[in-house]
Amino acid sequence: MPETKILLDESEIPTAWYNVVADMPHPPAPPLGPDGKPVGPEALAAIFPMALIEQEVSTERWIPIPEPVREIYRLWRPTPLFRARRLEAALETPAKIYYKYEGASPAGSHKPNTAVAQAYYNREAGIRRLTTETGAGQWGSSLALAGRMFGIDVRVYMVKVSYEQKPFRRSMMQTWGAEVLASPTDQTESGRKILAEDPDSPGSLGIAISEAVEEAASREDTNYSLGSVLNHVLLHQTVIGQEAKKQLEKVGAYPDVVFAPCGGGSNFGGIAFPFFADKAAGREVRLVAVEPASCPTLTKGHYAYDFGDTVGLTPLIKMYTLGHDFVPPGIHAGGLRYHGDSALVSQLYHEGLIEAVAVPQVPTFEAGVLFARTEGIIPAPESNHAIRACIDEALRCRETGEPKTLLFNLSGHGHFDMAAYDKYFAGELEDYEYPEEAIEAALARLPRVAEGA
Ligand SMILES: *Cc1c(COP(=O)(O)O)cnc(C)c1O
Repeated sequence: MPETKILLDESEIPTAWYNVVADMPHPPAPPLGPDGKPVGPEALAAIFPMALIEQEVSTERWIPIPEPVREIYRLWRPTPLFRARRLEAALETPAKIYYKYEGASPAGSHKPNTAVAQAYYNREAGIRRLTTETGAGQWGSSLALAGRMFGIDVRVYMVKVSYEQKPFRRSMMQTWGAEVLASPTDQTESGRKILAEDPDSPGSLGIAISEAVEEAASREDTNYSLGSVLNHVLLHQTVIGQEAKKQLEKVGAYPDVVFAPCGGGSNFGGIAFPFFADKAAGREVRLVAVEPASCPTLTKGHYAYDFGDTVGLTPLIKMYTLGHDFVPPGIHAGGLRYHGDSALVSQLYHEGLIEAVAVPQVPTFEAGVLFARTEGIIPAPESNHAIRACIDEALRCRETGEPKTLLFNLSGHGHFDMAAYDKYFAGELEDYEYPEEAIEAALARLPRVAEGA
């Protein structure tokens, strides 16, 4: 019987991150300041350490992973790669399905891969505190863990409605020693402004970002940390794809198609970019980002310069966007409710080098439940998107008889998302319609930039 679980030795944890910029046909579009001119590294130095700013703009193909970071990675990496034999059998497909399991990290998702690296570089730069925002809590808990590992205090601005509705992610953050505040707070200018207008504001990711950035910018000993979207975040996640390639090699396999859920693009970039290196060298492989039909950034957005946050504090980034003030419907895959996308993922998509599909909510839970009942692991609602798209491809293979090799990233487990599964079982989950009018209205408010000005 061939392997079900394909494991690597600790010594096989990658020693360098892979920078996709080195293999992109065109250089990435630069971030722009409010004046329409490219922003220099100085503009970011108030909230990020120089090592991360350098990674953000690097064109080097390989960037060495510092040994102290690999040492923490050893706590859960290399993560297992599985052959989904029981799922294949249930689908009666001739396709071979593999999945990389990033839920094996202490926080339960891929996010610690970058949190650990970011905490390390901040500590090396003499930073003692990090601020960040979190919605459902996946990112906040990852940074809480990483801060603890490197002796950095972490303050998390958690969207108030999640703070009240999702108490267990908050408990995790506190267990790892982070301070968690329900945002909007009365501790920042931004928070006080919102509270003055609406004392009962439920908060939003945009408001929480404003609070975290404001605090980091105003304190010498404090920096800010972001869990997705930025180039250096995707860079750190490439340990996923590098390990997966090695694991597939061990069983003589290579994927025809790679799937990953896509919110800000970090786990997609993490698993797909190392395969893109092969594609750039002429090998055939399809890379598919899977997004929610209700927040269809790549498949229905515009490729344009837009703000990364709701308020408009960040530089302008050229990306697929639904408009920075678009508020997506309240789907349960909280990690996929972002109006924009990574600049690198956006550019590769724009140039036709990667693909994207959008899937509605209910079929993603259908796929997740079938996965749990065959393979055992209960997936995060975000991961269910990749599972859906992969199952659809496997079913097409059943029609055509093609024995394709499919790989997807199981970006996290769903142990803190059982309320969403309960709703699915109770028939209370909605398939939100594509919010066409809201998107059109938000796109009409895109900032105007004279490109090349
Ligand atoms: C945050 C998250 C995502 C989406 O974020 P990306 O940056 O697009 O990877 C996907 N899956 C899980 C489990 C997450 O926590």
